[in-house]
Amino acid sequence: MTCEDAHLNMHDYISGELASEHHKNLMDHMDECPNCQEYFRQTQHIQTTMRDFMQYEAPFELQTAVSSILANA
Ligand SMILES: [Zn+2]
Repeated sequence: MTCEDAHLNMHDYISGELASEHHKNLMDHMDECPNCQEYFRQTQHIQTTMRDFMQYEAPFELQTAVSSILANA
């Protein structure tokens, strides 16, 4: 698995859509790759933060800003 693959899988994992056969590959990669561990931590933080914003009905501009950060992550 490349770091690029790992990043894509992380987004699926965080949104609960990652197939279980990819899950182990992702975890194995992160065990060996500090960059991806950090990327995962940040991505998870952004997604959790975005969910919190949604709960409080964030202004549309803010949701758009967060979405574009995620899209470019
Ligand atoms: Zn990596």
